[in-house]
Amino acid sequence: MKITFLGTSHGVPAADRYCSCAMIEVNGSVYLIDAGAPSVDLLIRRGVNLDDVRAVFTTHLHGDHVFGVIQMASLFNWYFKTTDADFYLTEQAGIDVIAKTIETIDGALCDRVRLKLMTQDTVWEDENIRVTPLPTQHLAHIGRPAYSYLIEAEGKKVLFSGDLSNRLEKEDFPAYALENEVDLMISEMAHFGVEHVSPYLEKCRAKELLFNHVFPLHKLNEIRELDGKYGYPIRALEDGDEVEL
Ligand SMILES: [Zn+2]
Ligand SMILES: [Zn+2]
Repeated sequence: MKITFLGTSHGVPAADRYCSCAMIEVNGSVYLIDAGAPSVDLLIRRGVNLDDVRAVFTTHLHGDHVFGVIQMASLFNWYFKTTDADFYLTEQAGIDVIAKTIETIDGALCDRVRLKLMTQDTVWEDENIRVTPLPTQHLAHIGRPAYSYLIEAEGKKVLFSGDLSNRLEKEDFPAYALENEVDLMISEMAHFGVEHVSPYLEKCRAKELLFNHVFPLHKLNEIRELDGKYGYPIRALEDGDEVEL
Protein backbone atom coordinates (compact mmCIF):
# COMPACT_ATOMS: atom_id res chain seq x y z
CA MET A 1 0.00 0.00 0.00
CA LYS A 2 1.09 3.53 -0.69
CA ILE A 3 0.09 6.46 1.51
CA THR A 4 0.38 10.03 0.23
CA PHE A 5 -0.11 12.81 2.72
CA LEU A 6 -2.07 15.46 0.85
CA GLY A 7 -2.69 17.63 3.91
CA THR A 8 -0.74 17.60 7.16
CA SER A 9 -1.77 20.81 8.88
CA HIS A 10 -3.69 21.11 12.13
CA GLY A 11 -7.07 22.89 12.41
CA VAL A 12 -5.90 25.78 10.23
CA PRO A 13 -4.00 25.61 6.94
CA ALA A 14 -0.41 26.92 6.87
CA ALA A 15 1.58 28.49 4.02
CA ASP A 16 2.75 25.07 2.84
CA ARG A 17 0.24 22.75 4.49
CA TYR A 18 -3.36 21.90 3.78
CA CYS A 19 -5.61 20.52 6.51
CA SER A 20 -5.80 16.78 7.16
CA CYS A 21 -6.06 14.39 4.23
CA ALA A 22 -4.20 11.16 3.49
CA MET A 23 -4.60 9.11 0.32
CA ILE A 24 -4.15 5.34 0.54
CA GLU A 25 -3.64 3.41 -2.69
CA VAL A 26 -3.99 -0.37 -2.80
CA ASN A 27 -4.15 -2.36 -6.05
CA GLY A 28 -5.20 0.71 -8.02
CA SER A 29 -8.02 1.66 -5.66
CA VAL A 30 -7.98 4.89 -3.67
CA TYR A 31 -9.17 5.57 -0.12
CA LEU A 32 -8.93 8.78 1.87
CA ILE A 33 -8.53 9.27 5.59
CA ASP A 34 -10.00 12.71 6.32
CA ALA A 35 -10.74 15.34 3.73
CA GLY A 36 -9.95 18.67 5.34
CA ALA A 37 -7.86 19.72 2.34
CA PRO A 38 -9.37 20.64 -1.05
CA SER A 39 -9.00 16.92 -1.61
CA VAL A 40 -10.59 16.55 -5.04
CA ASP A 41 -8.36 19.33 -6.44
CA LEU A 42 -5.29 17.60 -5.05
CA LEU A 43 -6.29 14.23 -6.51
CA ILE A 44 -6.83 15.82 -9.94
CA ARG A 45 -3.47 17.62 -9.78
CA ARG A 46 -1.81 14.28 -9.09
CA GLY A 47 -3.55 12.67 -12.03
CA VAL A 48 -5.57 10.31 -9.86
CA ASN A 49 -8.49 8.75 -11.74
CA LEU A 50 -11.43 9.77 -9.58
CA ASP A 51 -13.25 6.59 -10.62
CA ASP A 52 -10.69 4.74 -8.47
CA VAL A 53 -11.85 6.49 -5.27
CA ARG A 54 -13.83 3.96 -3.29
CA ALA A 55 -14.27 5.56 0.11
CA VAL A 56 -13.51 8.57 2.27
CA PHE A 57 -13.30 7.99 6.01
CA THR A 58 -13.43 11.07 8.21
CA THR A 59 -12.26 10.83 11.80
CA HIS A 60 -14.66 13.40 13.29
CA LEU A 61 -16.87 16.30 12.41
CA HIS A 62 -14.44 19.21 12.53
CA GLY A 63 -13.93 21.39 9.47
CA ASP A 64 -10.23 20.59 9.12
CA HIS A 65 -11.23 16.95 8.58
CA VAL A 66 -14.47 17.17 6.58
CA PHE A 67 -14.80 20.36 4.52
CA GLY A 68 -13.24 18.67 1.49
CA VAL A 69 -16.04 16.07 1.56
CA ILE A 70 -18.60 18.65 0.49
CA GLN A 71 -16.70 19.67 -2.63
CA MET A 72 -15.70 16.13 -3.59
CA ALA A 73 -19.18 14.68 -3.05
CA SER A 74 -20.72 17.59 -4.96
CA LEU A 75 -18.42 17.15 -7.97
CA PHE A 76 -18.90 13.38 -7.93
CA ASN A 77 -22.64 14.01 -7.87
CA TRP A 78 -23.10 16.44 -10.75
CA TYR A 79 -19.97 16.18 -12.92
CA PHE A 80 -17.86 13.05 -12.50
CA LYS A 81 -20.67 10.67 -13.35
CA THR A 82 -18.62 7.49 -13.48
CA THR A 83 -17.45 7.86 -9.87
CA ASP A 84 -18.91 5.71 -7.12
CA ALA A 85 -17.88 6.20 -3.49
CA ASP A 86 -18.80 5.96 0.18
CA PHE A 87 -18.28 9.11 2.26
CA TYR A 88 -18.22 8.34 5.96
CA LEU A 89 -19.15 11.03 8.48
CA THR A 90 -19.16 10.44 12.20
CA GLU A 91 -22.44 12.20 13.04
CA GLN A 92 -25.86 12.14 11.41
CA ALA A 93 -26.05 15.93 11.74
CA GLY A 94 -22.98 16.15 9.49
CA ILE A 95 -24.53 13.86 6.91
CA ASP A 96 -27.75 15.87 6.95
CA VAL A 97 -26.08 19.23 6.51
CA ILE A 98 -23.74 18.02 3.75
CA ALA A 99 -26.63 16.32 1.93
CA LYS A 100 -28.72 19.47 2.27
CA THR A 101 -25.84 21.64 1.04
CA ILE A 102 -25.27 19.50 -2.05
CA GLU A 103 -28.98 19.17 -2.77
CA THR A 104 -29.43 22.93 -2.47
CA ILE A 105 -26.57 23.62 -4.87
CA ASP A 106 -26.72 20.70 -7.30
CA GLY A 107 -30.11 19.04 -6.93
CA ALA A 108 -30.75 15.48 -5.75
CA LEU A 109 -27.91 13.31 -4.47
CA CYS A 110 -27.45 10.26 -6.69
CA ASP A 111 -26.89 6.65 -5.59
CA ARG A 112 -23.21 6.80 -6.54
CA VAL A 113 -22.51 9.31 -3.79
CA ARG A 114 -23.27 7.61 -0.51
CA LEU A 115 -23.05 9.67 2.68
CA LYS A 116 -22.81 7.09 5.47
CA LEU A 117 -22.61 7.11 9.23
CA MET A 118 -19.44 5.78 10.83
CA THR A 119 -20.14 4.13 14.18
CA GLN A 120 -17.85 2.31 16.57
CA ASP A 121 -19.33 -0.94 15.24
CA THR A 122 -18.65 -0.21 11.58
CA VAL A 123 -15.99 -2.30 9.87
CA TRP A 124 -15.52 -1.36 6.23
CA GLU A 125 -13.95 -3.95 4.02
CA ASP A 126 -13.40 -4.70 0.35
CA GLU A 127 -10.96 -7.03 -1.42
CA ASN A 128 -8.08 -4.57 -0.78
CA ILE A 129 -8.46 -3.06 2.64
CA ARG A 130 -10.13 -3.28 6.02
CA VAL A 131 -10.91 -0.11 7.98
CA THR A 132 -11.77 -0.36 11.68
CA PRO A 133 -12.73 2.68 13.77
CA LEU A 134 -11.39 2.95 17.32
CA PRO A 135 -13.15 5.60 19.43
CA THR A 136 -11.11 8.49 20.82
CA GLN A 137 -12.01 11.05 23.46
CA HIS A 138 -11.32 14.14 21.30
CA LEU A 139 -14.95 15.34 21.49
CA ALA A 140 -16.12 13.33 24.50
CA HIS A 141 -16.41 16.50 26.63
CA ILE A 142 -19.29 17.61 24.39
CA GLY A 143 -20.77 14.14 23.97
CA ARG A 144 -19.71 13.68 20.35
CA PRO A 145 -17.80 10.84 18.66
CA ALA A 146 -14.32 10.81 17.15
CA TYR A 147 -12.24 7.92 15.88
CA SER A 148 -8.79 6.62 15.17
CA TYR A 149 -8.65 4.24 12.21
CA LEU A 150 -6.85 0.95 11.91
CA ILE A 151 -6.07 0.22 8.27
CA GLU A 152 -5.18 -3.33 7.27
CA ALA A 153 -4.02 -4.01 3.72
CA GLU A 154 -1.56 -6.37 2.03
CA GLY A 155 -0.58 -7.87 5.38
CA LYS A 156 0.34 -4.47 6.86
CA LYS A 157 -1.26 -2.46 9.64
CA VAL A 158 -1.40 1.31 9.77
CA LEU A 159 -2.99 3.29 12.58
CA PHE A 160 -4.20 6.86 12.11
CA SER A 161 -4.78 8.48 15.51
CA GLY A 162 -7.26 11.13 14.40
CA ASP A 163 -7.53 13.96 16.91
CA LEU A 164 -7.11 13.07 20.59
CA SER A 165 -7.94 14.71 23.90
CA ASN A 166 -6.32 17.88 25.22
CA ARG A 167 -3.00 17.04 26.90
CA LEU A 168 -4.07 13.38 26.46
CA GLU A 169 -5.93 13.83 29.73
CA LYS A 170 -8.42 11.13 28.71
CA GLU A 171 -5.51 8.73 28.14
CA ASP A 172 -6.76 8.11 24.61
CA PHE A 173 -3.48 7.55 22.80
CA PRO A 174 -4.77 4.52 20.86
CA ALA A 175 -4.36 1.45 23.07
CA TYR A 176 -4.19 -0.68 19.93
CA ALA A 177 -0.68 0.59 19.21
CA LEU A 178 0.41 -0.21 22.76
CA GLU A 179 -0.96 -3.73 22.66
CA ASN A 180 -0.27 -4.71 19.06
CA GLU A 181 2.55 -4.28 16.62
CA VAL A 182 1.65 -1.90 13.80
CA ASP A 183 3.81 -1.20 10.78
CA LEU A 184 3.12 2.51 10.87
CA MET A 185 1.35 4.92 13.16
CA ILE A 186 0.35 8.44 12.19
CA SER A 187 -0.33 10.57 15.25
CA GLU A 188 -1.67 14.06 15.59
CA MET A 189 0.43 16.57 17.55
CA ALA A 190 -1.79 19.57 18.20
CA HIS A 191 -3.72 18.77 21.36
CA PHE A 192 -0.78 17.79 23.55
CA GLY A 193 2.92 18.35 23.94
CA VAL A 194 5.89 16.08 23.51
CA GLU A 195 5.96 15.73 27.30
CA HIS A 196 2.39 14.36 27.28
CA VAL A 197 2.90 11.84 24.50
CA SER A 198 6.38 10.63 25.44
CA PRO A 199 5.22 8.03 28.01
CA TYR A 200 3.07 6.48 25.26
CA LEU A 201 5.87 6.61 22.69
CA GLU A 202 7.95 4.57 25.09
CA LYS A 203 5.31 1.82 25.13
CA CYS A 204 4.17 2.17 21.52
CA ARG A 205 4.71 -0.92 19.36
CA ALA A 206 4.76 0.90 16.02
CA LYS A 207 7.67 0.13 13.71
CA GLU A 208 7.58 3.78 12.62
CA LEU A 209 5.69 6.80 13.89
CA LEU A 210 4.91 9.93 11.88
CA PHE A 211 3.39 13.08 13.33
CA ASN A 212 0.93 15.19 11.39
CA HIS A 213 -1.56 17.89 12.48
CA VAL A 214 1.36 19.58 14.28
CA PHE A 215 0.67 22.82 16.16
CA PRO A 216 2.41 25.04 17.01
CA LEU A 217 5.11 24.46 14.42
CA HIS A 218 8.02 24.94 16.83
CA LYS A 219 7.18 21.38 17.91
CA LEU A 220 8.84 20.27 14.66
CA ASN A 221 12.19 20.81 16.37
CA GLU A 222 11.11 18.78 19.38
CA ILE A 223 9.89 15.98 17.09
CA ARG A 224 13.32 15.88 15.41
CA GLU A 225 14.83 15.15 18.81
CA LEU A 226 12.49 12.19 19.33
CA ASP A 227 13.83 10.27 16.34
CA GLY A 228 15.53 7.09 17.48
CA LYS A 229 14.88 7.75 21.16
CA TYR A 230 12.41 4.87 21.47
CA GLY A 231 14.01 2.40 19.07
CA TYR A 232 11.92 3.18 15.99
CA PRO A 233 11.93 6.07 13.50
CA ILE A 234 9.89 9.15 14.42
CA ARG A 235 9.48 12.21 12.21
CA ALA A 236 7.01 14.88 11.19
CA LEU A 237 5.16 14.79 7.90
CA GLU A 238 5.06 17.42 5.17
CA ASP A 239 2.43 17.80 2.47
CA GLY A 240 3.29 15.54 -0.44
CA ASP A 241 5.20 12.97 1.63
CA GLU A 242 4.74 9.41 0.44
CA VAL A 243 5.18 6.17 2.35
CA GLU A 244 5.17 2.70 0.81
CA LEU A 245 4.56 -0.34 2.96
ZN1 LIG B 1 -8.11 18.50 13.66
ZN1 LIG C 1 -10.74 18.05 15.87
